[in-house]
Amino acid sequence: MAMTNELLRYFRAKEKERASETAAATQCPFCSVQCTLQLVEERIVERRRYKAVPTDNPTSNGRLCLKGMNAHQHALHPERLLVPLAKVDGRFVRVRWEEALSLIAERIISIQKEDGVDAFAVYGGGSLTNEEAYLLGKFARVALKTRHIDYNGRFCMSAAAAAMNDAFGLDRGLTNPLSDIPLAQTIILAGTNVAECQPTLMPYVYEAKKNGAFIIVVDPRETKTAALADLHLPLKPGTDAALAVGIGKVLLDEGYIDEAFVRERTVGFAEWKQHIEAVEMDEIVRLTDVPEEKIRLAARKYGEAADAIVLTARGLEQQTDGYAAVRQWINVVLATGNIGRPGSGFGSITGQGNGQGGREHGQKADQLPGYRSIEHPQHRRYIASVWGVAPDELPRKGVSAYEMMQKIDAGEITGLLVMGSNPVVSSPNAAFVAKAMQKLKFLVVADMFLSETAELADLVLPVSSYLEDEGTVTNVEGRVCFRPAARKRLGEVKHDWEILCDIACKLGKGRFFPFTSAEEIFNELRLASRGGKADYYGVTYERLRRERVYWPCPDAHHPGTPRLFTERFAHPDGKARFAVLPFRPEKEETDEWYPLYLTTGRVLAHYLSGTQTRRSPALSARQPEAVVEIHPRTAKRYGIGPGMLVRIETRRGAAVVRSRYNDQIREDTIFVPFTGAALGKSTTSHPMSSIRIAACRRLSGAQLGCGQWSI
Ligand code: SF4
Repeated sequence: MAMTNELLRYFRAKEKERASETAAATQCPFCSVQCTLQLVEERIVERRRYKAVPTDNPTSNGRLCLKGMNAHQHALHPERLLVPLAKVDGRFVRVRWEEALSLIAERIISIQKEDGVDAFAVYGGGSLTNEEAYLLGKFARVALKTRHIDYNGRFCMSAAAAAMNDAFGLDRGLTNPLSDIPLAQTIILAGTNVAECQPTLMPYVYEAKKNGAFIIVVDPRETKTAALADLHLPLKPGTDAALAVGIGKVLLDEGYIDEAFVRERTVGFAEWKQHIEAVEMDEIVRLTDVPEEKIRLAARKYGEAADAIVLTARGLEQQTDGYAAVRQWINVVLATGNIGRPGSGFGSITGQGNGQGGREHGQKADQLPGYRSIEHPQHRRYIASVWGVAPDELPRKGVSAYEMMQKIDAGEITGLLVMGSNPVVSSPNAAFVAKAMQKLKFLVVADMFLSETAELADLVLPVSSYLEDEGTVTNVEGRVCFRPAARKRLGEVKHDWEILCDIACKLGKGRFFPFTSAEEIFNELRLASRGGKADYYGVTYERLRRERVYWPCPDAHHPGTPRLFTERFAHPDGKARFAVLPFRPEKEETDEWYPLYLTTGRVLAHYLSGTQTRRSPALSARQPEAVVEIHPRTAKRYGIGPGMLVRIETRRGAAVVRSRYNDQIREDTIFVPFTGAALGKSTTSHPMSSIRIAACRRLSGAQLGCGQWSI
């Protein structure tokens, strides 16, 4: 025994002597904060140990959450795809890149010949870098000439983007820098659970609270964010627009309107006033199920504040009337003039890592780089000149992501390239989407893993992870951030942008895609965005290596624009728009058979559909299976104990999940995180939203095994 211990000590000492450590700078790939870190790799003989060390940056100030600490685990996971895979007789087999690229070109050409040029579509994602999102848009328009390109951001913050564009003339997630939050006297967080979704932003809210700010949280659940609120408004799901109207009514009735601001800087106030005056508070209370005194208190606290901020997120945006809900909150902001000053503004907190940049440079069906419109003759001319094509060669606008799925189902789109997304899980009405996808003649998916969407593909292309892929992303503040590559690529993986260049070459369009680095693509993006609303022309890699730059930044000497709308809004007349819109929810209602509201959302340990975080042992251990949060009284009504497997049905699908009691959720509402759940979600006449709210059938004890989904 003594001899064994002696030997062990000897070998451990030897190991230590030979241990070495390397560190590489990188950025968390998950949420829109884009925290920076150093990934430290410790090598001890054959073993490797990794540690994420937070580094300072002006957004998260050296903070890192659980997801960032463990992000490397998925990038180093043994299930990473390292070679291209083609499906033969229902099974994936390894193919060489040359074969894979030739097959893609062949199938694109044959599908476009048989079914028309628009029959081949492209589906992108809000986690792609700016360079890749930009190139995907160019690839669709120049290499494929298809009008059909869109991306998963449609199911994310598109409602807010459209609302801000229409109200302010410009869509940037936050009108103010995050450092303005502690300056506000009142902060309204509506449908946003920052504590779990962007944890490293919470210190801004804590600081505001320390400075005496009054915090109001609007959410059907008492989330971790709501727990710190001075006032929690647990509204009935789907009634956010009505609540904002109620607050607007109190502001109007009790004289909190900033007349000078309204007169000088807005249009449409008179119509809004007339509309709001006709609203009865009793109806707002009945619709929202929030007591009138609470609505009045929220309005007074907001109206009295010298500076106040309203922040929204997917909780209210991902609804059939998400656009209207955001516009109603913007009406409240405009009526009080709480915008364009330090500590006063509006924001929609983006969720995806590049939710901001990913929506600016051409991934959207109707958009060209720099927030230009694909239907605007001058915009078409400018972008065509940057790309070296004739303006009339550019296709016209296509359809949004969900409409694309409907076209796939209808057989109008028969070929699809998916890059940086997992629509089979993340789309609304996921069961329909999965079924539609199976009708495609050819599906090619570029991903790091065999995701649920990749499983359906004819060809799967392995792509690099955030650790290997250099590029830029634009964070929640509208700040362009540079992410260096921290490691060499594994196996035969390629960067997404390389794949696009390679396919373009095979299609004979290589001269338009001559790029050999992300920086070269970024330089073309800068030029393409020049003069557009999201102007990146003054942002260079050289500059980004030193600082994060707020757009618009039109030239190299421009400092960037941390705070928007200080003097004018972005409409040609410089004024913001009030909107008169319906606020009575026209949504799926509960009934005898579907008596509960089902809402979905993110949880701390997971990101999006969980393709990455489910493969991180540390994150997965924290939330290994799907759960349903349910009020104990509701649970007892249906005979459901804590930790029991239950089957949930909506009008479109069903799932089996484990119950978790939560006495801080409304009794008429249950909550299921969307990670990993291919649960059929709500569809309505409005195709781009309504993920969050669905009427849900009575719950019952289930016989299925843990974590199984039954659609
Ligand atoms: S998930 Fe968001 S908050 Fe957490 S470390 Fe990553 S970027 Fe930062």
